[in-house]
Amino acid sequence: MKVLIADQINEKGIEELKEVAEVVVHTSITPEELVNDINDFEAIVVRSRTKVTREVIEAAPKLRIIARAGVGVDNVDVEAATERGVMVVNAPESTSITVAEHAMGLMLSLARKISLADKSVKEGKWDKSAFMGMELNGKTLGIVGMGRIGSQVASRCKAFGMDLMVYDPYITPEAAAEIGVEVMDLYGLLRVADVITIHVPLTPETKHLIAKEEMEIMKDNAFIINCARGGIINEEDLYQAILDGKIGGAALDVFEQEPPKDNPLLTLDNVVFTPHIGASTREAQRDAAIIVAKDVKEVLKGGSPKNVLNMPVIDPKTFQQIKPYLSLVEKLGKFLIQTAEGNINELEVTYCGELAKMSNHDIITRILLQEVLNPILTEPVNLVNAATVAQNRGIIITEGKRSDAGGYKNLIKVDMKADANQVSVEGVFSREPKIVMINDYNVDVETKGTMLIAKYKDIPGIIGFIGTKLGEHGINIAKMQVGRQEPGGEAVMVLKVDQNVPHDVVAELKKMIHVYDAVAVNL
Ligand code: NAD
Repeated sequence: MKVLIADQINEKGIEELKEVAEVVVHTSITPEELVNDINDFEAIVVRSRTKVTREVIEAAPKLRIIARAGVGVDNVDVEAATERGVMVVNAPESTSITVAEHAMGLMLSLARKISLADKSVKEGKWDKSAFMGMELNGKTLGIVGMGRIGSQVASRCKAFGMDLMVYDPYITPEAAAEIGVEVMDLYGLLRVADVITIHVPLTPETKHLIAKEEMEIMKDNAFIINCARGGIINEEDLYQAILDGKIGGAALDVFEQEPPKDNPLLTLDNVVFTPHIGASTREAQRDAAIIVAKDVKEVLKGGSPKNVLNMPVIDPKTFQQIKPYLSLVEKLGKFLIQTAEGNINELEVTYCGELAKMSNHDIITRILLQEVLNPILTEPVNLVNAATVAQNRGIIITEGKRSDAGGYKNLIKVDMKADANQVSVEGVFSREPKIVMINDYNVDVETKGTMLIAKYKDIPGIIGFIGTKLGEHGINIAKMQVGRQEPGGEAVMVLKVDQNVPHDVVAELKKMIHVYDAVAVNL
């Protein structure tokens, strides 16, 4: 068997691979050469230079595994690899300590003005009074995102005598207690933290998570550090807040545009910059090489790798059988993650009717987990890793079967318990996925576009109030369904709307008298 090392990786990884395969190291290979030569190889190992495109994958009939010795797989066409049944592996844990240490370095640099002092001494000055610093001991650190890197930062800052506050709506209280951190909401954290450090993925939810409004409520002179991804902090607002003297300083390893161009932040003395080197240590690179080499070895020996990012190959017959239900649970998963309040703790999936007789429920459940976890995590969650990722996050998953499908041929019911709410949803597949029950209310909802679900007191006028409020915001109701347990009791309405319902409109609805709850869901 032959393995191609297309980018420079640590020698230890190469040694590992030589135990099972002929290793060809060609770290200056051009895209054209790669397409020509790849047909001979069972595995390819890359870092970020080499692009493993669809063209490369399609020219590689023997290829079984693509290994990225690092975290991000932007340079690998994972979809093309999945289609061809080629596994893609990476080394997600290889850089966590390295990035956490970089965050520590930036924190110390800010607190003790190290980069400014360094510059000053090199200019021949000895201006001790200009560099009065701040001790970290006894200060409050706000960690935004308590995943692999956030947790490493937490343990280091604990050793520095800092009080730790965390904002991460997706971690379990047990996990927080184990690390010894206090979990709070974002604004609560911003109000008390002397130093804020960001460790969340860049997602639509975290884009500009820290902007003008958030900076205004931050403690005066607080420091903020971003070693995660550019775009999580609004750079224009940060510039203004520092200029206004509201924020004491910032340290940035990542930018909205890299390298930063004409970025006014570069003109500020109390901002420390590094050129996206958070993961750049020899140790991280060595570990990444060893981690992926072990996975490649495992696959070439016919075993299962540890960090697979894409789907396993399902035989075509099974795939045809379960295909409709994959699209159904995909929608149910999207629905649930948007209705969950806080961390999801339990998911109970019940397969009803003829579905109860089928095997391969495991794969359907994994698709559900994939949909529930993907919006909140950095690396892709897929069929292969979904169950492990869910387990690691403390989500209890149970599967059940029931012959009664409530009058339908097949039905999937999912009961979710989150920190602050419980949601039960039932769906069927007839030509397309449909939701037929939300909590205990019968509905008939197509799983497309935006819907608004509101719980309210069943008294005259409330439906009109909600409709008027949406109208005021230019939101048109396309379809409405209402359900209630008993006249005058609690009722639920499901509105199909033509426009997105922004967060502030949902918040306004929730504040209305006799409206108990409201949530907007985009399917
Ligand atoms: P991770 O997936 O292990 O952890 C991310 C955490 O963020 C999770 O616990 C998740 O629950 C939480 N989260 C998700 N959405 C959130 C939200 N809206 N609000 C609060 N918390 C939220 O990821 P990781 O490996 O710790 O990486 C963290 C960040 O560091 C990522 O952005 C990654 O791209 C970045 N990173 C940067 C470098 C670098 O060179 N600077 C290197 C590696 C990773």
